[in-house]
Amino acid sequence: MRNDKLIRCITSDGAAMITAALTSDIVYTASKIHSTSPVASAALGRLLTAASLIGSSLKQENASVTLRISTEGSPAGAVIAVSDSSGNVRGYIQNPDCPTEYYPNGKLNVGKAVGNSGILNVIRDYGAGEPYVGMVPLVSGEIAEDITSYYATSEQIPTVCALGVLLDKETHEVLLSGGFLLQMLPGAYSTDIDKVEAAVSKLEPVTTMLAKGMTLKEICEKALDGFEVEQLDESNVAYKCNCSRERVERAFMVMSDDDIRASAADLGYAEACCQFCNKKYRFTPEELEKLISERHNDE
Ligand SMILES: [Zn+2]
Repeated sequence: MRNDKLIRCITSDGAAMITAALTSDIVYTASKIHSTSPVASAALGRLLTAASLIGSSLKQENASVTLRISTEGSPAGAVIAVSDSSGNVRGYIQNPDCPTEYYPNGKLNVGKAVGNSGILNVIRDYGAGEPYVGMVPLVSGEIAEDITSYYATSEQIPTVCALGVLLDKETHEVLLSGGFLLQMLPGAYSTDIDKVEAAVSKLEPVTTMLAKGMTLKEICEKALDGFEVEQLDESNVAYKCNCSRERVERAFMVMSDDDIRASAADLGYAEACCQFCNKKYRFTPEELEKLISERHNDE
């Protein structure tokens, strides 16, 4: 097992901040949980990486961010990634076996699978009060560009986002995954933006840099070439679900009494499966009756 991690750096003049993440284990784990096709591994992997990068910037301990891509009738269907405030993520793709197409240069055509006529929702839940919901139309469905567009249009923050998932050409297993989110800070001059654009235009794809053995710090320095870069912190991140029996019980509560009882009819028990981690929760008919009677006691 490699160790997924995330680092945050700032330029010493306060012009820009960058968060970079290595997410190979996270995306490998997601590909196994959801049995994803190659293009679905890349789409879900990129969105998970983006969620981790954004989530790690949330300051409140109970906060979370949900990225949701929905395009009517796209091959991949809805793609969802949720991060806690430490950058730990979980995700889901509606059609994990969606067909894989390639660009002429051999790269996975993620835009085709995700579609470019849908929307990207960014939902920040601070753990109290109403969540903040942002939305932008998709630009390309390649995800990094869509995240960049979200920050430019919805939050007016000049941002560069790069995301990459590298698969083994034959086995289609996830070899490497990572990305960065670079943002200009309020004190930045337009010359700083020019300097960042020049540095970023010379960058190789993230997975190419990772495959060369570059560290996250080195990637941050390269993306901010011309600036003095200071590392603020480093943390470990992982694929982590927060499902529980109580959450599943709450899902039963939207069903009628008869439907709850009927759910145990075939197998002699009811089974509910978490969409993020596939963990199965079993309920005996007696446990279901207890849930039903508890509900009526609450009324
Ligand atoms: Zn779960």
